[in-house]
Amino acid sequence: MSRGLMQKFSRPSWLAGLAALLLLPALVPGQYAMQLVNLGLISLIVVVGLNFITGYCGQINFAQAAFWGIGAYATALLTLNGVSFWFALPLAALATGLCSLLLGVPTLRLRAFYLAMATIAFGEIVQLVLVHWETVTGGTSGLRNVPGITLFGHTLTGHREHYYFLLAWAALGLGLSLRIRASQIGRAMIALRDSEIAAEVMGVDTVRTKMLAFTLSSVYAGVAGSLYVSSLHYVSPDLFSNAQAVLFFVMLVIGGVGSAVGAVVGTAVLTVLPEALRFLKEWYLVLYGVGIILMVCFLPEGLVSLRQRLPGWRRSAPAMTEPAAADVDAAQPADARFLTARVDGAASNARTAGGMSVQAVTQRFGGLVALDAVSLQVAPGTVHAVIGPNGSGKTTFLNVLSGAYVAQAGSVQLGGTELIGRRPSAIARAGLSRTFQNIRVYKSLSALENVMVGAACHQPAGWRGLLAILAGTAAHRRQEQALRETALQALHFVGLAALAERPAGSLAYAQQRLLEIARALATRPRVLLLDEPAAGMNPQESTRLMALIVAIRDAGITVVFVEHNVRLVMGVSDTVTVFDFGKKIAEGTPQQVQADEAVIAAYLGRPRQTPSTPNAAAATPEPDHA
Ligand code: ADP
Ligand code: MG
Repeated sequence: MSRGLMQKFSRPSWLAGLAALLLLPALVPGQYAMQLVNLGLISLIVVVGLNFITGYCGQINFAQAAFWGIGAYATALLTLNGVSFWFALPLAALATGLCSLLLGVPTLRLRAFYLAMATIAFGEIVQLVLVHWETVTGGTSGLRNVPGITLFGHTLTGHREHYYFLLAWAALGLGLSLRIRASQIGRAMIALRDSEIAAEVMGVDTVRTKMLAFTLSSVYAGVAGSLYVSSLHYVSPDLFSNAQAVLFFVMLVIGGVGSAVGAVVGTAVLTVLPEALRFLKEWYLVLYGVGIILMVCFLPEGLVSLRQRLPGWRRSAPAMTEPAAADVDAAQPADARFLTARVDGAASNARTAGGMSVQAVTQRFGGLVALDAVSLQVAPGTVHAVIGPNGSGKTTFLNVLSGAYVAQAGSVQLGGTELIGRRPSAIARAGLSRTFQNIRVYKSLSALENVMVGAACHQPAGWRGLLAILAGTAAHRRQEQALRETALQALHFVGLAALAERPAGSLAYAQQRLLEIARALATRPRVLLLDEPAAGMNPQESTRLMALIVAIRDAGITVVFVEHNVRLVMGVSDTVTVFDFGKKIAEGTPQQVQADEAVIAAYLGRPRQTPSTPNAAAATPEPDHA
């Protein structure tokens, strides 16, 4: 079915699993148990759907039961009026998709808990409508005698026949979910969960990506509702309560948030367990509560994480060995050809180095003026360092350039385009990319996938891209291949090719900094901003970094960087600008700046932060906004 699944499990265990699923009806005792299995398959579709928005995007959604209900009622009303199941199902999916747009468009722009709150309210409203709009919904007694499913002229009867039908749908849902996870959209979802701002500056439209995920979630729930009512022939409102929504949520959490396989495990466990422990009566609830608390404390990544934890259960994948330092160092930052290659989809295909003109930029935080009418010119194709004592506004400056902050006044022009006021993703597409002082790699993606997010900067996937992914078109496969190649070249360029498959969060500090550089380069920027790239690096590593910066400039990319390491600043910069208290106090060649009275005063005034202590930055706690 899916290559992802095939790779995860060896062929014999895969075949054994398939055989067990096909023989299951013969093994399950009685009708009641069979109905339970069928309900489990329907829940599975709902939970695999929930995984898109909650697992991958990290947004809490309590509307999944309501969407399930909308799918069920829409199908029941249509089929009771003579519409075939096969027309009712897509219409029900469409209805839930539209509801998710209504709910998502106003709330997904906002951060934090707005989606959770809105979905809880939505769940209550749907419940009230189902109960009180009696003429249409049948009130608390619901709708009965809903027509069944006819397949090739045969109407499905009995739990066994329905089982195979539902199994096929669950497999389809899971397969498509794994396909999306392995695509540009799946990577974008996880990237924005791991760091929303780092996803934006790599060109990910985070709002649209969340919207895609939310709509996918609700369509899965709608399809599940349609299948539910057509196989049980009956629907009533109590099933679609917020309590049920919480249960779906718990199924996902117990299995492992962010893993479609986890959704399968969690759904199976929470479908079977309540029945198996029925003899405990109300004690079951106590056990359930305690169990969940223990899970959250000891297995926060869910039951699927047991696979890595239990030694006997570990996958047979070749053991990951630490690559020797020489392995990594051997890669020369020489082959920069990918940096100058034509960029498909970029606004300007002439990859001229970007010059930047900054005019009177002012950024205030309450009463604090972090940038005070800063003006400077960055000449195209140069390395331009920004230095200054801690808190002088260097990171804020980079945040304004990259769109993370919107300055209150001033202008930033990149090749004739005004950047201030644009979203970070738009600025990235205009040709500016960056790294972060506080490392922001997408921890749960592999190093390669991190860089692939950057590589996709100029071809952001929307609704049409989603359809191409679901259909697995040749064009989509070609694009994935191209992204992979660009990403590998970028990893090779910074010397991390040997670590491509590693989870980014498991890399050493200095490697994560290099990974951020590779990710930024994969967007094929005209201007690259680096915020303290050498922080936490040893002298050897920072020497390599110097060579890398020079190679990037020689490939025609303008580099603006903030750094405390004097050797680095003096070694590679064409121009140095000095900030103090948000003001530009000096500018010139490294030699001119070193001799400048104001610069010496600024540093000597605060001796603990002299730029001659390269680790000053690493030693001082960094503010979290960086
Ligand atoms: P640098 O990178 O030069 O060390 P920063 O740009 O991080 O300095 O910070 C400059 C000043 O602006 C500091 O006083 C810092 O506390 C303040 N600052 C930066 N970002 C924010 C923010 N988001 N909210 C409030 N104050 C901020
Ligand atoms: Mg800083």
